Amino acid sequence: MKELQDRIRRDGMVKPGNVLKVDSFLNHQCDVALFDHMGAEWARIFSGRHIDKILTIEASGIGIACCAARHFGDVPVVFAKKTQSINLEGDQYVTKVYSYTKQREFPVIVAKRFLKAGERVLLLDDFLANGKAMQGLIDICGEAGAQVVGIGIAIEKGFQSGGEILRRAGYDVESLAIVTSMDAETGTVEFA
Ligand code: 5GP
Repeated sequence: MKELQDRIRRDGMVKPGNVLKVDSFLNHQCDVALFDHMGAEWARIFSGRHIDKILTIEASGIGIACCAARHFGDVPVVFAKKTQSINLEGDQYVTKVYSYTKQREFPVIVAKRFLKAGERVLLLDDFLANGKAMQGLIDICGEAGAQVVGIGIAIEKGFQSGGEILRRAGYDVESLAIVTSMDAETGTVEFA
């Protein structure tokens, strides 16, 4: 998606450790018009596939998923939580995920009443790096008996393993921008 690539080139910042900072428009300050265009693009890509629900993970996925939902007939958006509340454990699906940017493990939690057997689910997130966050959501869908019909990613870091692992496992991963390389010294970002 050219608009997203142009925006990354203009406003993205390449940090040491292969981290792309896009907090001026994607995951801290939010450009809602851009989110809307991203949602329209995913709807075009996944058109013809019945989707009951969009599942994402807090916090960065929520904004893009909500904007996208408007283009999927206002399907409900469910976001996995990363912190436990006082709910009874049996009421929730829980798995653990290792965070690339935070360099630690955190829980991924979805209340059972928001994900049901047989539901057709589209997974959305802001970044795909090693695929841990997506794998956590896939595991939870598996536990619930829900079907993952596609995975939409805003920015895939193609030089990390997540995309390949998920595609090899048979998932339809559609990334709006695939970064093939980036350089923290020059600040350059290359796309597929
Ligand atoms: P994965 O689980 O695929 O290894 O990493 C994806 C998650 O890590 C995303 O939810 C995103 O929040 C975070 N992440 C991974 N790489 C980057 C990056 O380069 N920049 C930012 N801002 N977040 C990243």
